[in-house]
Amino acid sequence: MTSVFRFAPSPNGELHLGHAFSALLNAKLATAAGGRFLLRIEDIDTTRCTPEFEAAIYRDLAWLGLEWEEPVRRQSEHFAEYGALLERLIRAGLVYPAFMSRGEIRAHIADQETLGRHWPHDPDGAPLYPGVDKQLSRRERRRRIDRGDAFAWRLDMEAALGEVAHPLFWREARDEGLAATERIDASPEDWGDVVIARKDVPTSYHLSVVADDALQGVTHVVRGRDLYFATGIQRVLQELFGLEAPVYFHHGLVHGPDGRKLSKSLRDSGIRVLRESGATAAEVRRMIGIG
Ligand code: GLU
Repeated sequence: MTSVFRFAPSPNGELHLGHAFSALLNAKLATAAGGRFLLRIEDIDTTRCTPEFEAAIYRDLAWLGLEWEEPVRRQSEHFAEYGALLERLIRAGLVYPAFMSRGEIRAHIADQETLGRHWPHDPDGAPLYPGVDKQLSRRERRRRIDRGDAFAWRLDMEAALGEVAHPLFWREARDEGLAATERIDASPEDWGDVVIARKDVPTSYHLSVVADDALQGVTHVVRGRDLYFATGIQRVLQELFGLEAPVYFHHGLVHGPDGRKLSKSLRDSGIRVLRESGATAAEVRRMIGIG
């Protein structure tokens, strides 16, 4: 079976050394495996993603010496496909319209904490969504949607987990060799009722990434460790949709000179900035240890 790798950036900012590492590593592993390397543009957030950032991605990656298959899949061109998957979850009663605003969520949690109840947080440190509006009647949901209230479609995690085989796990490669993998137990319940789609955008990162990895036949998802625990959510969706799970390899993150995580606003680690300040692609590769 041909191995398929992908680099899947979101064009909501400029690429930095961390992205360069991930892209170069994927391409290197694809070459080593005699496999394919795909580039996918994850631009479902049409308010933050821009054509300029997308053009910059192609420019930076080409400058680094990367080649990828054409046509590039751009997620914003596939909302109807993601919408069809969302519809399956709606029909199965596994998602619900969540109406609480940020302020309401905060107030609800504060109330619970005054009662001495400890409120759980997800692996990224955000408080879990209070499932209060899971109790709303169908009629009330309809009334609020028709009235134009803002909402997001959230996964009823408990119901979803009742539908999938237990225990849920994924295969994580031990190292870049990819041959040896270990079984990692997924704990999607740690994330609570995650957002699966928005009122006006029939998808989310988790829904599209799972759909596209399967559709494009991705065999190895190689990405940063910041997405390690999110894999649990993606495993639930793969099971619900009957999609095969790829092997995962979550690589270490590139840190700035001060030891802090890189962000898109860091001026000294942006690929364009490095190029414009005279660095060569070979130097950038050396900086991140991919020759
Ligand atoms: N689009 C995601 C990002 O920019 C990466 C998705 C993935 O590799 O699964 O962080």
